[in-house]
Amino acid sequence: MRRDELSRNLAALEDRVAAACAAAGRAREEVTVIAVTKTYPASDVRLLAGLGVTDVGENRDQEAAPKAAECADLPLTWHFVGQLQSNKARSVASYADVVHSVDRERLVGALSRAAVSAGRHGGRELRCLVQVALDDDPDRGGVRPEDALRLAGAIARAEGLALGGVMAVAPLGGDPGKAFGRLAEVARAVREEHPGARVISAGMSGDLEEAVAHGATHLRIGTALLGRRKPFVR
Ligand SMILES: *Cc1c(COP(=O)(O)O)cnc(C)c1O
Repeated sequence: MRRDELSRNLAALEDRVAAACAAAGRAREEVTVIAVTKTYPASDVRLLAGLGVTDVGENRDQEAAPKAAECADLPLTWHFVGQLQSNKARSVASYADVVHSVDRERLVGALSRAAVSAGRHGGRELRCLVQVALDDDPDRGGVRPEDALRLAGAIARAEGLALGGVMAVAPLGGDPGKAFGRLAEVARAVREEHPGARVISAGMSGDLEEAVAHGATHLRIGTALLGRRKPFVR
C-alpha cells in the first residue's frame, strides 16, 4: 500500500517537474530530484529506490546515519541538506556523498579533516555546496551572497572536498522567484571562478516551479513525495 502511495506521488511529481522544465525551455535531464526522507523510515527509502529514485536527502545526522547504514546495499546518492555542526562532520563524511549546507570556514575545516581521514580522495571527494542566505534570518543558515565566493574558494582548496556549487532555501513568506534569481547570480559568479561547480540546489515541494525557472539543477522534495511529516519514531 505504501509502495502504491509513493508510486502515485512520484508520478504526480514527475508531471510537475516535466511541466516546469518545458515551461522554462530546459531539458528534463538537467534536473535531479532528491527525495528528502527525513522523519520517514528506511523502509520508505528502500521503496523509493525500487521505484527508481536515485538521490535521497536527510537533514539530521542522528537520523541519517542509521538510515544510510540500513540502506547501504542500495545504489543511492546521499545528500545532507540540514544545518551541520562541526562535531558531526566526521559522521556525515562517512555516509554522505554531497553536503548542501556548508556556510562557514570552520565547517569547511572540519569536513576536510573528516573527509581526509575517511580516505575520500581520488575522485571520491566529499562534494560540498555553499549554502547562500537569501534573507536576514540567521537561524536558517547560509552565508551572505557577498561572502559566497570566498567560501567557495575555501572549499575548492580544501583537501578531501570538491566544490559542487550552491544551495539555498527560499525565504519564508517571501517571493521565491526573486530569491532564486539572486541565487542564480551567485551561482554564475561561483561558476566563473570554478567552472566545475554547476550545481544549483533550490526548490522544495512548494516552489519547485520557480526554482526550475531560475536554473535549479537539484530539487529537494519531501512533502510532495512522502506526505506531510509527523514526528519521527523509530
Ligand atoms: C525538509 C527539507 C526540504 C523538503 O521540504 P518539503 O517542503 O517537504 O519538500 C528541502 N530542503 C531542506 C533543507 C529541508 O530541510
